[in-house]
Amino acid sequence: MTDTDVIIVGAGPAGLMLASELCLAGVRPLVLERQPGLREAPKANGFNGQIVELLRYRGLLDRVQAASGRPVEPAPHVPFGGVHLDFSQLADSPIRVVHLPQPRLERLLSEHARERGAEIRHGHEVAAVSQDDATAAADVCGPDGPYRVRARYLVGCDGAHSKVRDAAGIAFPGRTYPEVNRLAQVTVPDSVTRLDNGDLDVPGLGLIRAGFTRTDRGVFGFGPLASGVLLVQTTEDEPGDADDDAPMTLTEFQESIRRVLGAELPVADVSRLSRYRFQARQAERYRDRRILLAGDAAHQFPATGIGINTGMLDAVNLGWKLAADLGGWAPAGLLDSYHHERHFAGARAMRQTQAQVALRRGQDPAAEALRELFQDLLTGEPLRRLGAMIAGTDIRYPGPGPGQHALTGTFAPDLTLHTGSGPISVAELMHPARPILLDLADRPELREAARDWQHRVDIHTATADHRPADALLIRPDAHIAWAAGTGEPAGTATPALREALSGWFGAQAGPLAACDDLPEGKV
Ligand SMILES: Cc1cc2nc3c(=O)[nH]c(=O)nc-3n(C[C@H](O)[C@H](O)[C@H](O)COP(=O)(O)OP(=O)(O)OC[C@H]3O[C@@H](n4cnc5c(N)ncnc54)[C@H](O)[C@@H]3O)c2cc1C
Repeated sequence: MTDTDVIIVGAGPAGLMLASELCLAGVRPLVLERQPGLREAPKANGFNGQIVELLRYRGLLDRVQAASGRPVEPAPHVPFGGVHLDFSQLADSPIRVVHLPQPRLERLLSEHARERGAEIRHGHEVAAVSQDDATAAADVCGPDGPYRVRARYLVGCDGAHSKVRDAAGIAFPGRTYPEVNRLAQVTVPDSVTRLDNGDLDVPGLGLIRAGFTRTDRGVFGFGPLASGVLLVQTTEDEPGDADDDAPMTLTEFQESIRRVLGAELPVADVSRLSRYRFQARQAERYRDRRILLAGDAAHQFPATGIGINTGMLDAVNLGWKLAADLGGWAPAGLLDSYHHERHFAGARAMRQTQAQVALRRGQDPAAEALRELFQDLLTGEPLRRLGAMIAGTDIRYPGPGPGQHALTGTFAPDLTLHTGSGPISVAELMHPARPILLDLADRPELREAARDWQHRVDIHTATADHRPADALLIRPDAHIAWAAGTGEPAGTATPALREALSGWFGAQAGPLAACDDLPEGKV
């Protein structure tokens, strides 16, 4: 009936991450990518947020850092809708940044997915998709001609203009903002002085600070890339007569700089000329029966620096749920929880990026006053909270019912665990992406309750210096499915654990497996 279990349309960060996660869970997906080879055109220069931790929890961060050539760094400053967030005043920046251009990230993810068993076909464009009760199909134009491939599920990771989304009839409501952004990579001639602190001294204009400068015509921004190249951007509030479909020219870019800065900025070695408008759109549903959406196909945010984090986290949330469904053990509603959780996360990201639109708009004194006031208020705890919101590290997926432990739905903290065989971290335990019951208070009755799920859930006993709960049930995407409060009586903790185990990980094993003396987890 089917050629493969899962077809992934699109080999961007979301599609490639999903391919790896499915492979980890024992499913071998087929990735169809219309580009003939790996992406070369630059897009994002890096990424940040919760996905950085998740990559560490998968044992991939060392490889990412090696590819980047730079360690993951706490972000000292982040632009937020015309305001500069200064995290250097906090003991620890809530945002950690990976400096890795998107083509190199995709190369790494592609290699990793292939090593794990994914098949990735470049030069295979999906022309149409369809579905029936049992399967989803893609009509593909490949190098050797058209063909059809059929699977049990198809995931559209095909970017903002997703054909899969349209074919599934999933609405993508929202709006396009009128401001025009123009972007290019340039070098500056010797007549422009690059100061040690990153600022530019431009003849006839004076000093331009690194980062974003607001003028009465818009925003001028620049930052250094590798090998001395600058990434320069203008944002103009008045849309003018820009033709969104025509390629941007150097003349158009220079005229935009002149309008925004009120003077010429001499540039050379110009590449990556592009023009875009911000969109705020979110797919109404992330699932339509056998077709699902992830990444930019599901959301477009009106601010930069957030797409990769959100899209790759969609993939991590979806991978194990899809594998559970294909494996025949998914409890009712598990696959639909992908939409509930990630639409919720996307909507939160939308809220903070739309707030950025409101903050960066307008040149009048009222708009300036709003920005100044906002900047003044952003210190201490509000600043830390906003940083966590941008990074998505504060996501707490809505729980299945009332009375849940405060940790339920949050990302599992990376505790250092002391065990009979030495220390180990939660991050290390998460490498295979299997569910974990972590008994932190020697609660044999909880371990005993979980033994009926031991074919699916690894059970570990350990102590931690700062125990956040007596026990944690951790999902493969590192979110906490259930937690036992400190000293919570067995009478309430045990049935709640059994309910969480069956609610997230399906039916317990049959009597034979249950009464066998199965080995416990590695710890
Ligand atoms: C200039 C620019 C700068 C950015 N900077 C940042 C940044 O600093 N940080 C950040 O996090 N994000 C940034 N982004 C956003 C980020 O690039 C996207 O969020 C990210 O690429 C989304 O990943 P994705 O896998 O969902 O989709 P995409 O990367 O768009 O990948 C979709 C893939 O699907 C393929 N495809 C499409 N249709 C078909 C089809 N019919 N058949 C087969 N294949 C198909 C495409 O060729 C593409 O490879 C930036 C974007 C731009 C444009």
